[in-house]
Amino acid sequence: MSEAERKQPYDVLVIGGGINGCGIARDAAGRGYSVLLAEMEDLASGTSSAATKLVHGGLRYLEHYEFRLVHESLAEREVLWASAPHIIWPLRFVLPHHQGLRPAWLLRLGLLAYDTLGGRRLLPPTRTLDLRTDPAGEPLKPGYHTGFEYSDCWVDDARMVALCARDAAARGANIRTRTKVVAAQREGGLWTVDLEDAADGRQQVQARLLVNAAGPWVDRVINEAVGQIENRNVRLVKGSHIVVRRLFQHDRCYIFQNADNRIVFAIPYENDFTLIGTTDEDYAGEPGEARISADETAYLCAAVSEYLRQPVSEGDVVWSYSGVRPLYDDGASAAQEATRDYVIRAEGETGEPMLVNIFGGKLTTFRRLSEEVVDRIGARLGEKGKRWTRRAQLPGGDFAPTAFEVEVAGLCASYPALDPALLRRLCRQYGTDARRLLGAAREHADLGEDFGAGLYAAELDYLVENEWARRAEDVLWRRTKLGLRVDADAAERIDAYLATRL
Ligand code: FAD
Repeated sequence: MSEAERKQPYDVLVIGGGINGCGIARDAAGRGYSVLLAEMEDLASGTSSAATKLVHGGLRYLEHYEFRLVHESLAEREVLWASAPHIIWPLRFVLPHHQGLRPAWLLRLGLLAYDTLGGRRLLPPTRTLDLRTDPAGEPLKPGYHTGFEYSDCWVDDARMVALCARDAAARGANIRTRTKVVAAQREGGLWTVDLEDAADGRQQVQARLLVNAAGPWVDRVINEAVGQIENRNVRLVKGSHIVVRRLFQHDRCYIFQNADNRIVFAIPYENDFTLIGTTDEDYAGEPGEARISADETAYLCAAVSEYLRQPVSEGDVVWSYSGVRPLYDDGASAAQEATRDYVIRAEGETGEPMLVNIFGGKLTTFRRLSEEVVDRIGARLGEKGKRWTRRAQLPGGDFAPTAFEVEVAGLCASYPALDPALLRRLCRQYGTDARRLLGAAREHADLGEDFGAGLYAAELDYLVENEWARRAEDVLWRRTKLGLRVDADAAERIDAYLATRL
């Protein structure tokens, strides 16, 4: 139904198609509210594709006494893993003990708390490593004797956003990408909201309640779209990552402590690469234009080179990305010390339509945040359904968390003529929906035009029809990370193909 044909106001209009907006839209649609989500660019084009991609308690946050956040986050690890075992999986972290930095007893104490604070059932516990004999010691400089190994999870951040949007749409939500909310005003007990997109220009819709999940743009929406003159609520903190060719052969990740009290991760990435990050820098520019600086690259290279036998230099960097954390401004002096917890602020007197602003938050806590927001929606609009996402799966995630290899083997058995490496990638990205994508294909030729690196027209068609992909960059950097493997020429051909499909 077009907006012009629609006579009824939406119950909820969500601004922002990052993890928080899509999580809220999914939860609300699942409880029976009518939902419109407007995202001004592509899904996950903001902070939600620029994270370190960990579903984690945040060992470091214990030092800032953020026990509530750590407890909630630790408990979410296995809940999220079970909901999407294709895009979320356990990762073991190796923390080499550095004589000059935090003492070993403190690290052991932190990890003991980490092991016991959250409900851990499937994830293995912490153990102590002898880095002189353990393979994790091999890539390190000589002199590291003791290390600690603990569990957290890895997540494909941008895919988690797309899957939440898909689930929301399957439950009735209207997801509109490349649609900006330019104005919103209270009129006759409803919100009248002006949307702008390239195809239809400006249109008006009505909603009973507005959720501002615009991430680093949250204050801008309050000030410019809603027209309230507000104090600044969020502190924008840029974080950058670099990607280099694979630095070590095992599948564990390193957490390196730095002399400046920060930590830097070196994580196995997309099979052939290592992801290194992150930085923390106050940021005043346009969030969509954040880029890594030469100083950040140098800092990250130096941080890992302090530990690794094989130093990393600027010339090794094959890709980098930067994102802006929208942290709730709690007045902390150092960027790294500002709280990572979320704050939900609802405003609007009884009888007035409500505005719910979301500040801060992590990928890890999006589901809990969404539950809280939709509870508040229920308190204002009338409760429709109970909380339901704790035991629900995201699209393609309907298999046991420990059964990923079984899924891959099953897919390979069903499509014996297709490259097993391609099938493994598709299984990682689409889970059980890989079968929908492949359909009746038997050979590679059945998948249509070949764009290189295992990307065929069949996958583009699937992404257009199911995941709002519109441009090559949506496909190459968010729905997949094949941008690491194809060249600019392929990107142009993908754009040309997508234009014929839209
Ligand atoms: P966003 O993803 O930015 O979404 C907001 C969206 O709103 C954007 O897509 C934007 O285009 C849209 N928008 C803005 N204005 C409008 C408008 N007027 N109309 C329509 N749409 C609009 N968390 C973890 O749990 N684990 C990690 O390992 C981790 N690492 C991180 C590392 C870095 C460097 C950073 C920056 C963050 C990290 N985080 C991590 C935090 C996490 O990524 C963010 O908290 C989360 O992605 C924020 O999501 P969001 O939906 O609030 O914001």
